Amino acid sequence: MTRIAVGGFLHETNTFAPTKATWDDFVHGGGWPSMTQGPDVLAVMRHINVGLAGFVEQAEARQWELVPTIACGASPSAHVTEDAFERIAKVMIDGIKAAGPLDAVYLDLHGAMVTEHLDDGEGEILARVRAAIGNDLPLVVSLDLHANVTPRMVEHADALIAYRTYPHVDMADTGRAAARHLALLLQSGHRFAKAFRQLPFLIPISWQCTFDQPCKGIYEKLAALESDAVPTLSFAPGFPAADFPDCGASVFAYGRTQQDADDAADRIAALVIGHENDFDGRIYTPDDGVRHAMELAKTATKPIVIADTQDNPGAGGDSDTTGMLRALVRNNAQRAAIGVIYDPDSAQAAHEAGVGATVALALGGKSRIAGDAPYKESFVVETLSDGRFVASGPYYGGRDMDMGPSACLRIGGVRVVVASHKAQLADQSMYRFVGIEPTEQSILVNKSSVHFRADFEPIAETLLICAAPGAMPADTAALPWARLRPGIRTRPNGAPF
Ligand SMILES: [Zn+2]
Repeated sequence: MTRIAVGGFLHETNTFAPTKATWDDFVHGGGWPSMTQGPDVLAVMRHINVGLAGFVEQAEARQWELVPTIACGASPSAHVTEDAFERIAKVMIDGIKAAGPLDAVYLDLHGAMVTEHLDDGEGEILARVRAAIGNDLPLVVSLDLHANVTPRMVEHADALIAYRTYPHVDMADTGRAAARHLALLLQSGHRFAKAFRQLPFLIPISWQCTFDQPCKGIYEKLAALESDAVPTLSFAPGFPAADFPDCGASVFAYGRTQQDADDAADRIAALVIGHENDFDGRIYTPDDGVRHAMELAKTATKPIVIADTQDNPGAGGDSDTTGMLRALVRNNAQRAAIGVIYDPDSAQAAHEAGVGATVALALGGKSRIAGDAPYKESFVVETLSDGRFVASGPYYGGRDMDMGPSACLRIGGVRVVVASHKAQLADQSMYRFVGIEPTEQSILVNKSSVHFRADFEPIAETLLICAAPGAMPADTAALPWARLRPGIRTRPNGAPF
């Protein structure tokens, strides 16, 4: 029987963000399933949209015996602590060493992990796994579309395969693709040639959405280029908030011959580079965005949806900045709603005051982001909630949510969702759970960059992107970069580093 060790360890690191990821964060999981070890991994990793779950399904269909080590992830944030990395890596490597005879290893990794002590978290994991299993066993890895792929990762893995959708609706599919590729490696017994290209400019995440051009077309061409000669080909636009030399977009191809791999990688790299202008779209200031939305709303039949992209908790933000809320109030927006502002103290104050009360709060603004501060105003408590509901849209896909004690607060014509836990506003239910019907608003402001689009595009008149102070600049050139590789442009059409 074919025996395969498996594991998962996912983190997207924004080295400019305020808060680090600890062991406890991986135990809880944030937006990921809670940490599991040993046989428990296989109980959790099924029928969910995670790479490892897709791999497990394919492996069982092929009657492979799986040896699970550890599966964990944590919400995007600043660096993974050295303590968390070393403890998790030890469980994974010890599990692989203790597994007995193996035919292969599959890992579900993110690809953009930076730790307190390492620039290239995944490169280090793969090097340690390779040292444990030797050079003969295949090592196949699925990666996030936001992977900042490094030469060391390419060196130690037999194949890296990245998601192709953002919003990431294909995480499990990528695990399935990894299993199919591994089956090919095991059947053929030969290794594919590798080609790796790092691209010359950073791509802001707002323009990485695969619903729109240019990414939609790029991924269609990429899929069309796969063949017997090039069984797997990936484009990772990267996570442009990690200050180290391998940050950025890349293309990686595996081919029967070096020529096959090189040709496929070069064609996709040239295609992406040719679209540099299309990755350089309009970002509004908060006031310009709100005023434009109010103008559009006069004739719109559906809400104007604004992405408060720089405070996206899915990219390291704390989901508590107040710039967009201030702009809505300052411009006297009506039938407007914003969510989710993470502020346990204000949520508690609202619960103590009760429905109908007016409370004076210093709302949000507590993560010490430059240009942001708590918003000191009086709010009417409209509704209260225990924060438990099901997020049924396509991104969360039926997940049980626990936002903790929560409230709908109103100031003028603006309603605010306030919660005691952090989660990216990527589901209509994240308004409804406090009594706000999103389809009846004229303006919605979501603390998300792209994932919200899966559930909000169908109800939106149009989408705008605004840049209020936050941890994840929409303009990648605005970050205080110090350690990128020389020559890379810090934004499309931007200046070389
Ligand atoms: Zn991602």
